[in-house]
Amino acid sequence: MKVTEHIQQAKGTLISFEILPPMKGKGIHSLYDHLDPLMEFKPSFINVTYHRSEHVFKKTVLNTFEKVVVRKRPGTESICAAIMNRYNVDTVPHLICGGFDINETEDALINLNYLGIDNVLVLRGDAAKNESSFEAEPEGHRYAIDLLKQVVNMNNGIYLEEDLKNTSKTKFCIGVAGYPEKHFEAPNMDSDLNYLKAKVDAGADYIVTQMFFDNEKYFNFVKRCRDIGIGVPIIPGLKPVYTRKQLNLLPKTFHIDIPTALELEMSKCQTDADVEQVGTEWLLHQSRELKKAGVPVLHYYTLGRPGVVANVVKELV
Ligand code: FAD
Repeated sequence: MKVTEHIQQAKGTLISFEILPPMKGKGIHSLYDHLDPLMEFKPSFINVTYHRSEHVFKKTVLNTFEKVVVRKRPGTESICAAIMNRYNVDTVPHLICGGFDINETEDALINLNYLGIDNVLVLRGDAAKNESSFEAEPEGHRYAIDLLKQVVNMNNGIYLEEDLKNTSKTKFCIGVAGYPEKHFEAPNMDSDLNYLKAKVDAGADYIVTQMFFDNEKYFNFVKRCRDIGIGVPIIPGLKPVYTRKQLNLLPKTFHIDIPTALELEMSKCQTDADVEQVGTEWLLHQSRELKKAGVPVLHYYTLGRPGVVANVVKELV
């Protein structure tokens, strides 16, 4: 079922989760161990992130270095199928521009379609680790909107080979990313919002936000989106903070702010358990307020500490 159908049929705020594929070599059971305790909360859908290949330098026996390509977390598409099979829940694979040319993108979409996956979150992806800024593949997409247009084309039965006849139309429900605190490359919020609106005008069905820790940022973002005519559902993305290290790591990685009050509360903590408790209460407060405001879905980034998310969601139902 499509994410938008879940939202249309819902009587209140839904719950969804986001997971990462396991590190290569770990096996799918590490993922099931992560998800099993969360399934009692009946998520409407589960997102699975996509991780592109990276270039790394490996030491050889001759003490020189060779550049090799590694993909640390493969398997997004098959994990989606495995989750659907095990838990009978809808999944949303993330699909990125980075590392794909348009033919590989088409093949990936055909695979998702054959697997019975109805949803896709289309993203540009970040720069590869060895590049200072995002570089599209030759024959690849530069921005998420270009990838989105390819999915929309396939939903209209238009494939890359123009002479294909009687093509089957895919029916993907398409999500895109939005940034309540602005995408870090955008010169200003207006510019970022205008590009977001372009994605919606081109066919995006809904928006999922980057994590935020101050609900006012989300409420302002939604207001500004509505003011410029973005009408689709805007799903808040929520992440628990459970270590002091994250106070510096999250802003550095995701270009978001940690509110002063949260930082102060954490600085008073004596033990790791106290830190986790403060993070759990913060996430619970955010979730309750957002639910009260009638958000369509509470989307939790569960990576790392699913127990914290479980403790929060338990309090909400
Ligand atoms: P875009 O929409 O292409 O925007 C990128 C930048 O370009 C923005 O600054 C925008 O304002 C600007 N822009 C957009 N269109 C144009 C245009 N036509 N001309 C000029 N400028 C333009 N990354 C992964 O690698 N894998 C994942 O699974 C993943 N999941 C994510 C899930 C969510 C909910 C979020 C919020 C992010 C996720 N990311 C993931 C990270 C994401 O790929 C990065 O934030 C990336 O830098 C931007 O992706 P985007 O789709 O927002 O890009």
